[in-house]
Amino acid sequence: MRQRRPLWQSFVTEQRSSAPRDYSAILQQIADEVRPLVGTGKVAAYIPRLAEVPPDRFGIAIATLDGKIYRAGSAREAFSVQSISKVFTLTLALEAVGARLWERVGREPSGNAFNSLIQLEREQGIPRNPLINAGALVVADVLLGALPHGLDDLLSFVRARSGNHSINIDAEVAASERDAGFRNAALANFIRSFGNLQHPVDDVLNFYFHQCALAMDCVDLARTFLHLANRGYCPGSRMPVITEERARRINALMMTCGTYDAAGEFAFRVGLPAKSGVGGGIVAVVPDVLTLAVWSPGLDERGNSLAGAAALARFVELTGLSVF
Ligand code: GLU
Repeated sequence: MRQRRPLWQSFVTEQRSSAPRDYSAILQQIADEVRPLVGTGKVAAYIPRLAEVPPDRFGIAIATLDGKIYRAGSAREAFSVQSISKVFTLTLALEAVGARLWERVGREPSGNAFNSLIQLEREQGIPRNPLINAGALVVADVLLGALPHGLDDLLSFVRARSGNHSINIDAEVAASERDAGFRNAALANFIRSFGNLQHPVDDVLNFYFHQCALAMDCVDLARTFLHLANRGYCPGSRMPVITEERARRINALMMTCGTYDAAGEFAFRVGLPAKSGVGGGIVAVVPDVLTLAVWSPGLDERGNSLAGAAALARFVELTGLSVF
């Protein structure tokens, strides 16, 4: 049974959701305003296949709890979700092993680059959180032991949540990352040396490179995150995807750890749980209202989409929809 909301929360929810908003016009306005930023920043060239993505793309989509989709720009062009996939694998790992996951990975922001090795040495192979590479490698190891059909189960999850059964993994992106994946290989070997990986390093890396190579568009992503805006429930039904508590906690992790070592700045500018990827995507959750996915491949120096982050900041300015 869904718990009753505290009075102040229903009030906030009502204020948020009943205010009439023309999201189509808002998204178009944002697309126009951030246009000068599109194509600036750097496309992630350390994965050679990603370096080929045209930098001049910008797409944005909203999915609301009442089932509506709004979009602007290249919102239906698939791109490499990269680290956004870490939210999916975290969700599946929590479903599989519950709180035992936290014996192997922490829940604190790292304050370091997403692919940093430094903390691991000091912290004995226990990654700071599941949304940096080291943590996601441990999560991949958990899933290798827990998912009966491995990557197919991950695909089934995103297909079911997005309603798009043609979503797939781009094998060329996965291969490109494997060929250039020296740092991730170092991370995985290092974690294994501390005994925090149970499967062969190559299997863990293979799973990880493939999850990152999921190709999805902004509409798919906005839909796939909707239960996180809906207290864990599948919108429009009484079916829980995950528990309300788990949804709250995943949102908390996105808020504190979801945008690399810029999470503090992101909370300051945007104030929404969000997860970014070096493919240029960012997905944000407005609890009880909507999800918002944005894509533009040019990245800032911390690895977040430059135009994407600006678009999210503008969205919050225009709508007041923030958790703060
Ligand atoms: N596949 C990328 C890597 O491991 C993901 C990085 C990201 O999107 O943060 O380097």
